[in-house]
Amino acid sequence: MPARSVRLLLVAGLLSAAAACGGRGREARAASAPRSVVPAAGVGAAPFGADLGRRVAAEARVGALARRRFTQAALWDALGPALRAGGGALRVTEVGRSGQGRALRAVTAGEGRTVVLLWSQMHGDESTATMALADLLAWFAGAPAGGPDGDALRARLSAALTVVAVPMLNPDGAERFRRENAAGLDVNRDARRQATPEGRALARLADSLRPAFAFNLHDHDTRLVGGRRGRPVAVSLLAPAAGADGAWGPARSAARLVAAGLAAGLASELPGRVARYDDAYTPDAFGEWMQARGVATVLVEAGALPGDGERQRLRALHVAALLGALDAIATGAWRGADAGVYDRLPAGRLP
Ligand SMILES: [Zn+2]
Repeated sequence: MPARSVRLLLVAGLLSAAAACGGRGREARAASAPRSVVPAAGVGAAPFGADLGRRVAAEARVGALARRRFTQAALWDALGPALRAGGGALRVTEVGRSGQGRALRAVTAGEGRTVVLLWSQMHGDESTATMALADLLAWFAGAPAGGPDGDALRARLSAALTVVAVPMLNPDGAERFRRENAAGLDVNRDARRQATPEGRALARLADSLRPAFAFNLHDHDTRLVGGRRGRPVAVSLLAPAAGADGAWGPARSAARLVAAGLAAGLASELPGRVARYDDAYTPDAFGEWMQARGVATVLVEAGALPGDGERQRLRALHVAALLGALDAIATGAWRGADAGVYDRLPAGRLP
């Protein structure tokens, strides 16, 4: 049996063993003027088109999470029906404990060969993607959404991918809706020291899974603007550097293509509001740490949309965008993305 198969079996065992229990502070800098990007259905974007993503986001939405501030207990209560349903489609495992003893949980969907790791809310007050992950997990568990096309997409992703999501990596911070963990430490500056239990849990999980792709999901400063018109940035993307030299090795190059597909999909919904995040090398951050270990890692930062103070529209856009990225990974379409779409993204800046 190939070593990778053995490893996947071990991972599957690890993830199924436990019963159901278990921004970076940098500011983006100014950059060049925005350019038009390819349509949502372009190469490397969601092969299924934007409509399906929108429908899944609307129909699989976990309604119990309706506002951006919620506790870990509320999150897992809201996910309860999905975790109990779906004939075991989701596997939950405890991957560690927070400083205050809250369970850090990973939820796994799919049985495919390609492992994708997503984590959110390592900064406790950045919950947009946690809501999106909850919706995605409910959909993976079988929530009817998107009709037959949605079912086909779910089957395709579940066969090709093993999706491991850690929603709310920093529950102690979320409890007080603040960035740092209970000890006042920034978990996303802890990749090398691993002084935080949350950072250690993430590093250990990544080392055990050895994912091919990872998504590091955050919210950034809502004041950031981008492009010539200086509109508020709704979503920022980054393929973080793997080293101080900023080289485009295989992992970072793959991350750039996935990010380009994400950007293309988002741009049709958010014209002029998609930006590239500050690419200053930050070796203590987990994006850089993962990239250096050969995991193609994309940083996704939710920003602001007018009239969307509770981030519900951004949440839905994240669901659709992440579905598109997952499908591009499942089908291999990410390889055909245009890196120029990423390169031409305007950098966000403070006004
Ligand atoms: Zn953050």
